[in-house]
Amino acid sequence: MADRFDCIIVGAGPAGCAAAYKLASDGMSVIVFERGEYPGSKNMSGGILYSTILNKLIPEFWKEAPVERHVTRRRYSMLSKDSEAALDVNINAFSEPPYNNSFTVLRAKFDRWFAKKAEDAGALIVTEAVVDGFITDNEKITGVKVRMEGGEVLAGAVILADGANSLLSEKAGLREKPAAKEMILGVKEIISLPKEVIEDRFSLEGGQGAALEFFGQCLGGFAGQGFIYTNADCLSVGIGCPISVLQENGLKPAGLIEAFKKHPSVRNLLRGGRIEEYGAHMIPEGGFSAMPELTKDGLILCGDAGGLVNPSLYKEGSNLAMASGVFAAETVIEAKKRGDFSKAALDAYVEKLENSFVLKDMKRFKDAPEILRKAPELFKEYPEELLELLRLHFTVSEASKDEVHGELRRSFKGKVPAWRLLKNLWKLRRIIS
Ligand SMILES: Cc1cc2nc3c(=O)[nH]c(=O)nc-3n(C[C@H](O)[C@H](O)[C@H](O)COP(=O)(O)OP(=O)(O)OC[C@H]3O[C@@H](n4cnc5c(N)ncnc54)[C@H](O)[C@@H]3O)c2cc1C
Repeated sequence: MADRFDCIIVGAGPAGCAAAYKLASDGMSVIVFERGEYPGSKNMSGGILYSTILNKLIPEFWKEAPVERHVTRRRYSMLSKDSEAALDVNINAFSEPPYNNSFTVLRAKFDRWFAKKAEDAGALIVTEAVVDGFITDNEKITGVKVRMEGGEVLAGAVILADGANSLLSEKAGLREKPAAKEMILGVKEIISLPKEVIEDRFSLEGGQGAALEFFGQCLGGFAGQGFIYTNADCLSVGIGCPISVLQENGLKPAGLIEAFKKHPSVRNLLRGGRIEEYGAHMIPEGGFSAMPELTKDGLILCGDAGGLVNPSLYKEGSNLAMASGVFAAETVIEAKKRGDFSKAALDAYVEKLENSFVLKDMKRFKDAPEILRKAPELFKEYPEELLELLRLHFTVSEASKDEVHGELRRSFKGKVPAWRLLKNLWKLRRIIS
């Protein structure tokens, strides 16, 4: 006879581990299936872990978790082909606990630690176990089929936390294959550099970290962005580009990250570093309107599987994943008490998301993906013009300042239609704040 648990979780990323930790801590019997050799072995993210939820689950987790640095410095750069204009924000107060709830992490270490915490709380974690499908009873999900001998396991509810490429949510009929324009391909390298070099180069001290985000011409004028995050003794360096842009332009991901790393403002930060790892992973950035239905009888979708990534400037996925994992666990605990795992009962999960920052932010930034898709000039013409204006402004000459400003106005007017610029700036506020 198949084993039976209160809850089965598929995937030991931040969403799955948060759900498992909460369920096990509340005395529920829970089993997690993870296809990787160990939790984190298949996982990749740019590297900023937003941790308000984790800090509630495991207070002062940073004292024991393998975090790399706490982020005190954030830099937003606009790149033209060969120049850069940046807003650099360095907040010393973020060096105090809880460290503004932003830490750089390496997922292979972090996920492993988080899964161990869930295990210590009582969850059973089974690795190298791919879940291929569901066991159903009249459309209600009652268990999963795992690719292993005797791999049929039953539960009151299944929490799907299998990430961006959630084939299982397609099998459950909750979503179709996501459109290419709704998916970003993230490509990331880990580049090692001595700790002292990182601290000198990025103006950091005592565990402080920096998160540098690059916009504009990061990818040779194609839509997308780049990032550099500082770890203890390596950098996470990467780019993100919509899959539709890759397909339409025949672009190769490896070529894009190379182009980014060759930009003068980027290459100087990476000087002397050695590539240790390379990986690519999808990010669901379709926003609120691309989200699938999140529940059905016996099933809840969490984290990236549910499309829960804030597509604005904040690029927040980890905190939403953990929040949804905790809400899913709470919902299963309540459902178990009532003995009701129907969709109607599990919809309490959606209500919890609605009442939290998760769906409030997803709704607030729902237009961001479309705005970015419809304004290709943000990635080429605007950055070029902005940097040209700055070049003119800062060029030392014997022209009077009035002459210089007149020249600036003429130069700008000729190239960027004012009405379109104003319209785009108005829309951009929906991405930025
Ligand atoms: C390049 C890049 C940069 C990013 N940068 C950031 C950032 O700086 N900050 C941030 O907050 N977010 C960032 N994100 C997003 C963030 O990584 C995700 O939102 C977050 O990891 C989602 O967690 P999750 O648990 O839902 O999914 P995942 O972390 O993807 O975990 C899913 C797990 O399910 C397992 N799995 C999948 N299918 C199966 C199956 N059939 N059977 C068993 N196991 C399975 C996988 O092996 C994996 O361990 C970034 C993502 C990428 C790709």
